[in-house]
Amino acid sequence: MRSVANIESLYLDFDGFFASVEQQCNSLLRGRPVGVVAFEGATKPDHRGIYPGAMIACSKEAKAAGLTNVMKSQEAKERCPELILVAQKPDLYRRAQDALLNEIERVIPIDKRKSIDEITCIVDAGGQRDPESLAQAIKTRIRQAIGEQITCSIGMSANRMLSKIACKLDKPNGLTILHPHDLPGPLLSLSFDDIPGIGPGNIRRLYSAGIVNMTRLWESEPKQIRKLWGNVNGERLWYALHGYDVKAQPSKRGMFGHSRILPPDERAVPDVRAFSRILLTKAARRMRRDGFRAAGLYFTAALYNRTYRDSLSLPHVSDDQAILGALMKLWERAASVINECDRIYQIGVVLVDLYDVQERQLDLLHYDDSTRQRWEVLTRTTDDLNRRFGRTAISLGPWPMKAGSLAGGKISFTRIPAAEDFF
Ligand SMILES: [Mg+2]
Repeated sequence: MRSVANIESLYLDFDGFFASVEQQCNSLLRGRPVGVVAFEGATKPDHRGIYPGAMIACSKEAKAAGLTNVMKSQEAKERCPELILVAQKPDLYRRAQDALLNEIERVIPIDKRKSIDEITCIVDAGGQRDPESLAQAIKTRIRQAIGEQITCSIGMSANRMLSKIACKLDKPNGLTILHPHDLPGPLLSLSFDDIPGIGPGNIRRLYSAGIVNMTRLWESEPKQIRKLWGNVNGERLWYALHGYDVKAQPSKRGMFGHSRILPPDERAVPDVRAFSRILLTKAARRMRRDGFRAAGLYFTAALYNRTYRDSLSLPHVSDDQAILGALMKLWERAASVINECDRIYQIGVVLVDLYDVQERQLDLLHYDDSTRQRWEVLTRTTDDLNRRFGRTAISLGPWPMKAGSLAGGKISFTRIPAAEDFF
């Protein structure tokens, strides 16, 4: 591992991304507190005069009024009556991200998309000589090509972790350059919560070892942190913090799934059952696109007073018939606990235990390889046709797009949707 003497990493985080895209697109929202909610029904009060659900993001004006990103809508409205609630538009945010990243690439190549609103870049020699100008060039490009409403904060430092920390030090529209020769400098006044990769469990372990602040952590030994963490990640964190060039571990894809909170009028069991098929079909499509098969399916349904969970092993499959068949089996099993008249407010379906498409083991218990292969051909054909038509032209069974207009395209902060997720 190399101790980095220069600024090699740039971390960029758009400020209040969803809300600022809304403000960029709709001038009536500019300069006003805006909250983004999950669906259209949650923008208005219900029959009791209460705003249902929670905001998933809010604008800088809303933050200045004391609101936070994730917050009950009713509480937000009480604290800030001028707050305007708008329903999320995942496809718009994705297109905005594409446009913004295109502009940034005119200034500097993008190394990684970390989430819908965060990216990292590798800083070249020119950028190392004059990091301020590089950061300003990015900001100017966005302002001139896209608009003034969408701003970003930029952090620059020796490695990705330090540039991410720097990025969060000055928001919104900030620029923080944390030069390796200034370390530890501003790090010492941070709290453990500000450091990516230090969770509540880690904090407890640090405290128990007498490491109660950043100064103590800075003075600790890498082996000590490794021991406290119980794995090599502790040591990696120590080196990253001290300005070493710590390479990111290749992350192994663990699951494909969707979980969704349902609008109040779509919580009846038959509706949720139909909707869960759409969610799972979309997850299976993404799984196939990335070249995996699943050996397990998880199922969760949250009712008002309890959460029902179940799972099923699958014989390393990727086609819709096998996967949807397993889902229906799970619903049948649920019938002993979930009544047809129950209300389900959140549903989750997740494909787990993934294997590379190439390495399907013949499952001796199933003897179904020739049938399976025919279903796989059919599924591939369906995927191709849907891609060609740019929407779901063909599906196995009904496709009741109700809550489903956003079924596969919900924007999460960690997964960047592709255009195909929206049909
Ligand atoms: Mg952001």
